[in-house]
Amino acid sequence: MPRAFVTGITGQDGGYLAEQLLAEGVEVHGMVRAGDDDAVGALLGRSPDVVLHEGDLGDAERLGALIAQLKPDEIYNLAGISSVAYSWKEPVLTAQLSGVAAAVVLGAAWRLQEDTGHRVACLQPSSAEIFGDAERSPQDESTPVRPMSPYGAAKAYAHHMSGVYRGRGLHVATCIFFNHESPRRPLAFVTRKITAAAARIGADGSGVIRLGNLDAARDWGWAPDYVDAMVRAVRHPQPDDYVIASGRTHTVADFAEAALRRAGVGDSWREHVEVDPAFLRPADASTPVGDASKAREVLGWEPTVRFEELVGRMVDHDMELLRRSGR
Ligand code: GDP
Repeated sequence: MPRAFVTGITGQDGGYLAEQLLAEGVEVHGMVRAGDDDAVGALLGRSPDVVLHEGDLGDAERLGALIAQLKPDEIYNLAGISSVAYSWKEPVLTAQLSGVAAAVVLGAAWRLQEDTGHRVACLQPSSAEIFGDAERSPQDESTPVRPMSPYGAAKAYAHHMSGVYRGRGLHVATCIFFNHESPRRPLAFVTRKITAAAARIGADGSGVIRLGNLDAARDWGWAPDYVDAMVRAVRHPQPDDYVIASGRTHTVADFAEAALRRAGVGDSWREHVEVDPAFLRPADASTPVGDASKAREVLGWEPTVRFEELVGRMVDHDMELLRRSGR
């Protein structure tokens, strides 16, 4: 049975990945932080067969020792700071956890391979944020890396280190992910913030969603599709970089409209949206839109859930949560 090691297993993507790998019969090991009890409880509720190890991305020695001891066949390094907004508040921590920690993981995988001859395949999730204010649209694997946020800069370093270790003989694939969402998205992300609020507004008939830049646009896809791309990428015989995106861009206002309509607010949706400068960013990537042709051709990957369906699933989930909580 192949063995996978997943950092960030309690996150949105980690949870979906654990489910997919376990269903395939893979032995799944994950690293979790001490005290992350709620997230661990939720993960074990859905995937009781994962094997968890305590560790911290900031503890390079422990991380390296875990990889040496587990001798995984596949490593998915999903842990790190995942919110661009938060990265502006904690740029140094973001560099450590989303940048330097990737070098620790890759270094440990390379050392394991060198010392024991055990082949390790690594997946490093990159991000559209590495392109920053991209000079070309749509963005593909050859688009210049020019980040504009602390998060983008940290992910760019990890992306470059993936190429460095690939050149050194380690099997490292990257997925350059555009935004990918699901009902498991934390509220710090605009999509879930909107769907949770829309569900409440739908139930009460009143209330507003306070948002930053309504014209900000994103290429939003369905998280489980993106997780599936990682598995395809890491298992392809030739490790490479793949843009994973829906290829369609919508604005924050489009998202709010679709969510409020789904919640039953109809044409009056605009009355339930307010701009609050507190949510504006120092800089925002212009209009990301990804070209996933290479993933389509080489990996046979296709997004299965489009924008309207994605919004619908998230709103329905939040309405169901409200019903269950008795409101
Ligand atoms: P990101 O692309 O990883 O930063 O994901 P987010 O969901 O945090 O943000 C997506 C876009 O929504 C960005 O361009 C934000 O500037 C924009 N946005 C507008 N209003 C809000 C808000 O209230 N909260 C967040 N998180 N983002 C907002």
